[in-house]
Amino acid sequence: MKYHPYLIIGGGMSAASALQGIRAVDDQADIAVISSEEYYPYDRPPLTKQLWTGKKTQDDIWRDLPEGITFYLERTVRELDLERKEASDNAGETYRFDKLLLATGAKPRRLPFGEDRIIYFRSLDSYRRLRALADTYERFAVIGGGFIGSEIAAALAMQGRHVTLLFPDDAIGARLFPPDLASHLNEYYRERGVDVLSGETAVGLEGEGTELTLVTGSSRRIDVNAVVAGIGVTPNVGLAQAAGLEVSDGIVVDRSLRTSHPDVYAAGDVANFYDQRLGIRRRIEHEDAANSMGAAAGRAMAGAATTYDYSPMYYSDLFDLGYEAVGRLDSRLQMNVNWQEPYRKGIIYYLDQQRVCGVLLWNVWGKVDEARELLGEPAADPARTLQLE
Ligand code: NAP
Repeated sequence: MKYHPYLIIGGGMSAASALQGIRAVDDQADIAVISSEEYYPYDRPPLTKQLWTGKKTQDDIWRDLPEGITFYLERTVRELDLERKEASDNAGETYRFDKLLLATGAKPRRLPFGEDRIIYFRSLDSYRRLRALADTYERFAVIGGGFIGSEIAAALAMQGRHVTLLFPDDAIGARLFPPDLASHLNEYYRERGVDVLSGETAVGLEGEGTELTLVTGSSRRIDVNAVVAGIGVTPNVGLAQAAGLEVSDGIVVDRSLRTSHPDVYAAGDVANFYDQRLGIRRRIEHEDAANSMGAAAGRAMAGAATTYDYSPMYYSDLFDLGYEAVGRLDSRLQMNVNWQEPYRKGIIYYLDQQRVCGVLLWNVWGKVDEARELLGEPAADPARTLQLE
């Protein structure tokens, strides 16, 4: 049996930040990370963004890690015994710990057909597989109009590839953006050569290898060399659930990111935390949440008094357009739209019960901290409107 006072399950961005958080408080800490992936922790955002534009290479994505961390790679924890404080993996090894961090992330939702012929884009391996295909082949289908779908469709189109982007909603980002902005995005993508099929589902995949035909709900048959999907993710809560931890849309954590067990913490995509500014529980699947929660959970595990009172930001690049945002972007909310130039530059405020609960900075940069200060504030207060230069 192995023994490490600090054990982290999951080897992604939250884990990498937690290592720094633990060592900031306990500089001699003996820490181990168990990860199913074969890689040390890396940043995920470049996989859909800068690796395609050439602004970064694969050498740039690796996280800086403290010295002397033990990594158990390509190992998957199968069982947690919280009474004995032990975790057992798929290779039959058992690890004893004093403090545990669950940074198990989320897994892609899958379609009921297509099996491994569909690339569910999420990991470095999926990037490498798609990149190799994009270097050789011409025609790609991208399923899903959310973060992955919109970023990967743009990335492939910028490589000069022919892309068909299909999703069940009316428009790209329809769940996030005001309807006119989302419709504009459909046109914007079409102008850049992407075949945008809104209101369309994928129902079957025929063929093998790089000779594939995607069949849609309206009986279209789309011949492609590869199919990529980004149709959402589900948090990896199985271990936590089986161990008896409280789970409700993720692993429920308190303000110091502690789960319902006093020596077990959770951070990142898998953690359901209390957003103090918004006064609601949330689970956030973005880089800044992973990094900030990981670091805070690490400090808390090492014994520092820690309150996680941060509202993470997120961002995306869609060809030449880009945005940063804080809080909740949800097109079902009331929205106050302030364009300096329609669909090119502006700020959108999302309101819940007349209070600001989200701010979208569309091609507006350097204002995230100011925007965060508005969260929870009355929407009608003109002094609390961000200035557009
Ligand atoms: P997502 O942003 O939740 O988008 C899922 C999309 O898939 C939606 O357009 C959804 O349409 C569509 N969809 C759902 N079921 C479908 C089906 N059966 N057929 C076709 N389309 C379907 O999730 P994602 O793009 O897969 O991204 C995965 C995670 O990575 C997310 O948590 C995201 O936050 C994260 N991520 C973040 C960034 C960033 O921060 N910039 C970038 C990449 C990934 P409906 O809305 O109609 O259901």
